[in-house]
Amino acid sequence: MSATVLNADLHCHSSVSDGTLAPEALAARAHANGVELWALTDHDEIAGQARARDAALALGLPYLTGTEISVSFAGITVHIVGLGFDAQDAQLAAGLQATRGGRGQRAREMAEALARVGIPGAYEGALQHAGNPELVARTHFARFLVERGVCGNTNEVFRNYLTEGKPGYVPHRWAGLGDAVRWITQAGGTAVIAHPGRYKFTPTEEYALFTEFIAHGGRAVEVVTGSHTTAEYVKYADMAQEFDLLASRGSDFHAPGESRTDLGALPWLPGRLSPVWEALADRVQRP
Ligand code: AMP
Ligand code: MN
Ligand code: MN
Ligand code: MN
Repeated sequence: MSATVLNADLHCHSSVSDGTLAPEALAARAHANGVELWALTDHDEIAGQARARDAALALGLPYLTGTEISVSFAGITVHIVGLGFDAQDAQLAAGLQATRGGRGQRAREMAEALARVGIPGAYEGALQHAGNPELVARTHFARFLVERGVCGNTNEVFRNYLTEGKPGYVPHRWAGLGDAVRWITQAGGTAVIAHPGRYKFTPTEEYALFTEFIAHGGRAVEVVTGSHTTAEYVKYADMAQEFDLLASRGSDFHAPGESRTDLGALPWLPGRLSPVWEALADRVQRP
């Protein structure tokens, strides 16, 4: 059987970032859904790694360390997933801490902006939803606005309040692309461009992202993700081959009933690709 036929889910979020389930509950859900190789990839944070790994290994589920770093590139927020790094690496920890640093101030500015359009108390409201006070994300604001009845679901909140040009959107400067890739690779991990179909780059900007990512030492791209359409699976499979990148697969699961794709519930990686888990075989932690 081809190496691409593996139920690997290498992208999801716990309550340590903007998911709603604890790392242990996510491990159990991944295992119940037939996941065969798992990574928890909280935004800008690795505080859930030991819990995720211990829970996974206790269930007999092989585990890779993971995170998803917020990066500013060409004026847009791009996400870089890191897999298989040493979770004790000091430079990676410092880089993630610096990246988290601006979130508190951004959250206050978002709340002020929402108050100006008649939605008071959003900072406190979002914080109520955040499992980690260092990691207040737009997702927590979205859940608060749904709770308040401002919108029917979180997608609607993003569309109407939290994306560029909308009243609750506050521009923010995240990590540099090269810094994020180096933090991951120098900690022994592999850097992966997360859900490239989400960025709505022009072909020129997208080419620049892939080229610069590779120049900094990045090696992989998500092809099959809960964020991609079927057409994007094909487009990014082609780009993985064109740029000689390894391919990854992950649901980007955040919460039951909220995420489009459940843990492990994705199509296989196309057989013509080289899966990132083959290159990471010696980084997998096994029961
Ligand atoms: P932040 O890192 O605080 O800017 O929040 C980004 C997070 O918001 C992403 O990781 C997703 O979980 C969520 N998100 C972004 N855009 C959308 C959208 N259009 N609909 C639903 N969730 C979104
Ligand atoms: Mn998220
Ligand atoms: Mn992302
Ligand atoms: Mn994600």
